[in-house]
Amino acid sequence: MQNIEKNLIQVRSQIEQAANRYQRSPGDISLLAVSKKKPPEDIRAAYAAGQRDFGENYLQEAQQKFPALSDLDLNWHFIGAIQSNKTRVLAEHFAWVHGIDRFKIAQRLSDQRPDSMPRLNVCIQINVDLEPSKSGIALEQVASLAERINQLPRLRLRGLMAMPAPHEDIKAQREPFARLRHELYRLNQNGLDCDTLSMGMSHDIEAAIAEGSTLVRIGTAIFGERL
Ligand SMILES: *Cc1c(COP(=O)(O)O)cnc(C)c1O
Repeated sequence: MQNIEKNLIQVRSQIEQAANRYQRSPGDISLLAVSKKKPPEDIRAAYAAGQRDFGENYLQEAQQKFPALSDLDLNWHFIGAIQSNKTRVLAEHFAWVHGIDRFKIAQRLSDQRPDSMPRLNVCIQINVDLEPSKSGIALEQVASLAERINQLPRLRLRGLMAMPAPHEDIKAQREPFARLRHELYRLNQNGLDCDTLSMGMSHDIEAAIAEGSTLVRIGTAIFGERL
């Protein structure tokens, strides 16, 4: 068996075990395979093993992969930092954009989303630890941005995304994810129909699932280390 297929089976079973441990339904947690810096052949191998959702961080790199994989029915997610002059490519080629951190970007995406495509799924990125090196907004700013994005006709606001600072132990890993979970609950209480917590990577997948993640973004554990 190819490594990528083996790894995928392993990651799926890790998701299932964590779900069982924390009284969650494994079917409520989707797996996004993060394929940044990996060639189209690797994506093909994952596809052959049943994977359909793939995440890319760099627009130029993603654009190079699209033609090589156009025969496959893939759901592309953009999980990188967004430049406002690059929104058209996102609007025309992706199913999801996870890193929304300002209204202007959301508005451009909505304006540029082709009518022939379903609404673009988006998540607001939260900088939970207020790290200067990371994009995302503070938790206190989420409610008002979410209200405004929710009005945009060609977007579908699905929920929240975060990439907390790394921690060794699971208790420390869970804390920022719990804050995201509370914030999603508050949005729901305010009448917003959001259903997604995009959180959990290779090193903190269990903590994220414990705190209600509905979409884990896994790169290294599927495709191996990136050079
Ligand atoms: C690279 C990346 C991932 C995947 O990280 P791994 O540690 O390789 O699983 C997930 N989310 C974002 C936003 C990333 O940039």
